[in-house]
Amino acid sequence: MMEGHSLEKDGWESLLADLGEPRFRATQVLEWLYARRASRWEDMTNLPAGLRAKLAAALPISPLEVVRETGSADSTRKFLFRLADGQMIESVLIPASPALYGEASDRRTICISSQVGCAYGCRFCASGLDGLKRNLTAGEIVGQFLRVSELSGEKINNIVFMGMGEPMANFASLMRAIRILNAPWGGGLGARHITVSTSGLVPQIRELAAQPLQVRLAISLHGATDDVRNTIMPVNKKFPLGELLDACADYVRQKKQKITFEYILIGGVNDSPEQARLLAGHARALDAKINLIPYNAVEGLDWTRPEPDRQEEFLAAVRSGGADATLRREKGHDIAAACGQLRLQAVRSLKSRQ
Ligand code: SAH
Ligand code: SF4
Repeated sequence: MMEGHSLEKDGWESLLADLGEPRFRATQVLEWLYARRASRWEDMTNLPAGLRAKLAAALPISPLEVVRETGSADSTRKFLFRLADGQMIESVLIPASPALYGEASDRRTICISSQVGCAYGCRFCASGLDGLKRNLTAGEIVGQFLRVSELSGEKINNIVFMGMGEPMANFASLMRAIRILNAPWGGGLGARHITVSTSGLVPQIRELAAQPLQVRLAISLHGATDDVRNTIMPVNKKFPLGELLDACADYVRQKKQKITFEYILIGGVNDSPEQARLLAGHARALDAKINLIPYNAVEGLDWTRPEPDRQEEFLAAVRSGGADATLRREKGHDIAAACGQLRLQAVRSLKSRQ
C-alpha cells in the first residue's frame, strides 16, 4: 500500500483530480501533512468527510511506531521504529554540537535509514550482516524525519543518509523523499542541508550529479587503495577506487560543491601512515573534506579501533599531507557509529526470545 507521505505535489493533484476534487485540495492536504503535521485524516476538518474517508482507506499517514528509544535530550538519541510489515529501522538525532560544528552552530541533524538491511556487506558494518530485506518507500524515509521531529520537539535542520542501508541503491525513493523533504510545501529543508552517503555506487553518483538539487555527497572511502578497499568493501570490486574518484571529481565540477570522504579508522587495516598519505592526496585532488571516525565495535565482528595516539597520528599525517580533516573524538557523536547497530541488537534479542 502507498503511504500518504510518498506523494509529491503533482501526485496529489492528479490523485485528487481523479477523485473529482478541485485543484486547491492538494494545497490543503499538503498543509495538513507538512505545515500542521497532521497524522489522522479525520483531523483535516476543511476537507469533505467523504473525501477524508476515501483517503483514509487508500493512503495511511500514521506515524512510525516507536519500539525503543535510547539516549537523552542533550546527547545523541536513537529511535528504533517498526514498519507496517513488522520490519525495523532506526534513526538517530544528533543535537547541535559546538565541538563538531563551531560555537555558533544550532545544527540539529537527523541520521536516517534508506533500506531495511543492506546488500553491500561491508565487513565492518552491522547493517549489512543479514543482507538486504527491502527498500524503504519515500513515505517511510520522510516518516522518520516527521516522527523524530515530533518525538523530540526539535526543529531538525540537517539530514544525513547515514543510517541503515545504501541510499543510492534505492535511488527512486531516495530522490522522491529528498524532493519532499526539500519542497517549500514539504519539509522545507535546503538541499545543501541534505547529505547522501554512499559506499561508492558510481552510476548513481553520476545520476545524482545530473539532478537539479544541490544535495551534498559523502563518500564512505575507508581505504586509500584498491587493496585496502577490496579487503573491507566488496563494492570496490565492482567500482574500483579510480572510477569512484573520477565520478567524485565530476560531481564536484558539476555541483561546484565540496564533498566529504568518510574514513573509519580500523586498527591494522587502514590506519597506516602510507594510507594517510594517499588519502590526503585523494582529498587534495578534489578539495574534499575528510571525516575520520574511529571504528565502533560491532558484536560478532573482530575489528578494533586504533588507540587514541594512533588516531591522532593518522590525523596529523593526513593534515601534513595538505588535506582538511577532522577526527571524531567525542563518544555519542559518532553519527555513523549508529549505523544498523540498534536494530541489530533488537533483532537479536527478539530472535533469542523466540
Ligand atoms: N551505505 C551508506 C550509508 C550508510 S552507512 C554508506 O556506506 O555510506 C553510514 C556510515 O557509517 C558509513 O560511512 C559507514 O561506513 C559507517 N559505518 C558502518 N559501520 C560502522 C562502524 N562499525 N563504525 C563506524 N562507522 C561505521
Ligand atoms: Fe551497507 Fe553502508 Fe553498511 Fe556498507 S557501510 S554495509 S554500504 S550500510
